[in-house]
Amino acid sequence: VAPDLTSAWRARVERDPDGDALLHDGRVWSARELDEAADALAAALREAGIGPGDRVGILLQNVPTAVVTLLAAWRCGAIVPLLNPMYHGRELHHLLADSGARILVIDPELADVAAAAAEDTQVEAIWSDGDLPTSAAGTAESEGTASPDAAPDDVALLTYTSGTTGPPKGAMNTHGNVLAAAQATASWMDLGPEDRVLCVAPIFHITGAVITLMAPLLAGSCVVLIGRTTPEAVAHAFAHDGVTSTTGSITVFNGLARLDDLSSDDFPHVRHLFSGGAPVPATTVTRFRDTYGHYIHNIYGMTETSSACIGVPPGVEAPVDAATGALAIGLPLPGTDVRIVSPDGATLAPGEPGELEISGPSVVPGYWDNPDATADTFVEGALRTGDGALMDEDGWVYIVDRLKDQINTSGYKVWPREVEDVLLAHPAVHECAVVGVPDDYRGEAVVAYAVLTGGDGDVPSITAEELREHARGELAAYKVPRQVHLIPELPKTPTGKIRRRELRESGADPEA
Ligand code: ATP
Ligand code: MG
Repeated sequence: VAPDLTSAWRARVERDPDGDALLHDGRVWSARELDEAADALAAALREAGIGPGDRVGILLQNVPTAVVTLLAAWRCGAIVPLLNPMYHGRELHHLLADSGARILVIDPELADVAAAAAEDTQVEAIWSDGDLPTSAAGTAESEGTASPDAAPDDVALLTYTSGTTGPPKGAMNTHGNVLAAAQATASWMDLGPEDRVLCVAPIFHITGAVITLMAPLLAGSCVVLIGRTTPEAVAHAFAHDGVTSTTGSITVFNGLARLDDLSSDDFPHVRHLFSGGAPVPATTVTRFRDTYGHYIHNIYGMTETSSACIGVPPGVEAPVDAATGALAIGLPLPGTDVRIVSPDGATLAPGEPGELEISGPSVVPGYWDNPDATADTFVEGALRTGDGALMDEDGWVYIVDRLKDQINTSGYKVWPREVEDVLLAHPAVHECAVVGVPDDYRGEAVVAYAVLTGGDGDVPSITAEELREHARGELAAYKVPRQVHLIPELPKTPTGKIRRRELRESGADPEA
């Protein structure tokens, strides 16, 4: 077993140097071509003084240079902070200062944004994709300059959490963490040289970087990168690029389902589909399967678990919890241990809801330069996820909701997801989010935001009041939204999660 990502990658190159490794914009890169590009960039990084433990940041969309930079930086023993190219100004400055990146590799159009954000940080050089420095010494790795391979405990990535519940935290994914997650995912998804994996999740997030990039790359598969992840571009990749597998947020599949003319014929090579990162509603999965013939397998992971750690096995349909209507997120992946714990850390019995706790080789040792958050989240090496969950007798895990999202209305506890599932079951509802907003009388009031299915003449369009009526037929009175707002789009993080904080703070007055 390879101890680090560089030797694991080298093993793939040696197994099949001419095999396809990357497809982007009509160009195919063999494993050897990627490897040579990484060698050349590694030489330039070394000349710029980058060595073990230094940070080389990436501020890129899903482009080949992101892959080349990862491989090159690891070859120098460097750590790669993955930065969100949609961040700018203060947000980006914070991440640059926090990670201490010395070199930044960026999309050319971000030159001004990056330069401004890099002021008063440790950034020494900003390299634009398309204009990367070349090494004066050539591309040879052999000049005695090559760094020793990294150790399993060395940090490979600094990945920032989505910032759903607070400011993003930098998780330190070690070589051992990423390898464990990538290998568990690849063997569990049965990925091999015949596969073409669509990398639709952003590489600047752990899902893209590990599930749909490093897992297939190390397994010998070809990774399909698309520039902009519009529904049209995703559909095109399925139809024309031979995609056999992908993992995307549920938004990706919702986007496909909104396309006119898409049919089950448009997924000619697909073996399996996965969705995670945010709740996967049972109704969405059923509708997608009935329309396109493909079942979307739920998969659960966190930045802190270096991506996937629980999932629905390929070919299996997940059970639905009778009491809450929640679709199971799956069974623990090989190597992952899962417990449901009470607030004092005791293991709860099957069926009892508590906090999901995860341990195993993909769980990070902590947050970058943040001992307080580390101490709050990691208990004797195990990760307290902040997710409310239960496990049934057969080991299936169900997310009840994020503990922080629970709504307390007049002393009653309401889980947003349960209300959302009821609203989503109405055929006119495309997406929705339920939040608790401050309310003088009740403490918090349940408020829903819904996006309706548009277009088709056969879909009934409804009013907010009719939607409340629908909820009243299915839910106890205290769970029924006091208000339903019909809006054109839900605010989301780049990783496809609903920004509930933004909705909560958007000033909805439950008595209005
Ligand atoms: P922050 O930690 O900054 O608040 P975040 O938790 O959203 O942001 P990520 O690490 O990207 O950042 O997301 C992990 C979270 O995503 C999990 O804790 C869980 O709440 C949610 N999640 C992931 N997969 C699933 C899934 N399949 N079903 C439901 N929720 C999921
Ligand atoms: Mg989190």
